[in-house]
Amino acid sequence: MACLFCKIIAGEIPSKKIYEDDQLFAFQDINPQAPLHALIVPRRHIATLNDLAAEDEALVGSMVRRAAAIAKERGYDGSGYRTVLNCNSDAGQSVFHVHLHVLGGRTMAWPPG
Ligand code: 5GP
Ligand code: ZN
Repeated sequence: MACLFCKIIAGEIPSKKIYEDDQLFAFQDINPQAPLHALIVPRRHIATLNDLAAEDEALVGSMVRRAAAIAKERGYDGSGYRTVLNCNSDAGQSVFHVHLHVLGGRTMAWPPG
């Protein structure tokens, strides 16, 4: 059975799409934690960061560069933004399909909760 984000990528569950190409899909988080809260996911199902292989390096690089591009489109490149990759339970990962959060439009606290 396909995971939630695989269903979103396939269009079986609606989402607010921000970007797509042959490898990546980006959409608005359903429960945004900032004025910009995008999720960037690989089209291919990868459950956690622990499952990344050496051949995924270019894929991860394109996810990070896409985060920067989305933040820049929204005008947050100068003021700043945050990217987050949660892995497993202590980090609060709730959907087991690798996703890069991009948050912008407000001041962020550090350390994260
Ligand atoms: P995690 O906690 O795994 O790092 O992040 C999962 C994110 O997916 C959460 O921020 C949550 O709001 C978002 N999310 C969960 N279900 C859906 C959904 O059905 N649609 C969208 N667009 N986002 C979702
Ligand atoms: Zn998936």
